[in-house]
Amino acid sequence: MEWHFELQKLELKRAFTISRQSSNFRETLRLGLRHLDRTGWGEAAPNPRHGESPGSVIEAFTRLKDHPFTSSPNQPEAFIREAAPVIGPVQSAMAAVDMAVHDWWGKGLERPLYEIWGIPYREPFETSMTISIDTPEKTAERTRESLEFRVLKVKMGSDLDRENILAIRSVTEIPLWVDANEGWKDPARAMEMISWLEGQGVEMIEQPLPATQWEDQRRIKDKSPLPLIADESFSSMTDLDRISEGFHGINIKLAKCGGLAPARRIISAARDRGLLVMIGSMIQSSCGIGAACQIAPLADYVDLDCNLLIKNDPFTGHPAKNGLIHLNQLPGTGVRLKPSLENQES
Ligand code: MG
Repeated sequence: MEWHFELQKLELKRAFTISRQSSNFRETLRLGLRHLDRTGWGEAAPNPRHGESPGSVIEAFTRLKDHPFTSSPNQPEAFIREAAPVIGPVQSAMAAVDMAVHDWWGKGLERPLYEIWGIPYREPFETSMTISIDTPEKTAERTRESLEFRVLKVKMGSDLDRENILAIRSVTEIPLWVDANEGWKDPARAMEMISWLEGQGVEMIEQPLPATQWEDQRRIKDKSPLPLIADESFSSMTDLDRISEGFHGINIKLAKCGGLAPARRIISAARDRGLLVMIGSMIQSSCGIGAACQIAPLADYVDLDCNLLIKNDPFTGHPAKNGLIHLNQLPGTGVRLKPSLENQES
């Protein structure tokens, strides 16, 4: 059994701007698990918010390479349990291990993961397309370029929030989701904005207030006419109990929660608590997105467009056509490293 990993510098088609930052590229790491003539793939998208960096992922993967595993990837749960203390607290690296093991296992069974797990996938499902923060003119232009999608997720939290929504509405009436990325600090203003957005055909709001303003968040929950979804306020299972006091749902990302196995447990626990479920991602390639797609039919909101934002995707996965993701029937997570990159793998 052999692990190998490679840094991927993902170039964005256009600068990605949210309330906190703007960037032209992202670095993720692909992780390959090679065993018995097949390779399972995973991807780590380090989350700086949780103190992660490409460097901390590389350290975790180096420890993984050196670890003499006693369990077999044929038993994904036991294998992942053994890997967890080796990886440590770097959740995005843990997610990559989880994806790689499940991909390898599914390839061995020659079936896609959703099918192995009995996740009902009957027809292609919609994903939102993200419109990041820009001027109203550019926002209108981006909207015109995104009309094949059936829902747009609009990043907010700038001085131009209303102008940008009106710019979108000058182009299309399709449903919108809004992600404030903690950008509204004043709860009264946030409520005013949410009510206005409801009148603009917005269906839900992600993370209106900073995660640190928990009391404010609790106060606006019951007053909000739109469902509020926790992203920055939510990481893992341990957050679930209190999350329903401040939000109507959660945004699950594999990189935050540590992979497909924990994500499936969280979805089930969230349903028990009556919470809405959104599946999102960090900016990453079709490798990580392909893994998330396997459980996406379980979600109310699918936000898996990040692979579509990059120019140099090292992987192919599930095609998105006219705003709908079509799960391919390939085994495992359904992703493949592009043949041009295969020879470079050590
Ligand atoms: Mg978000």
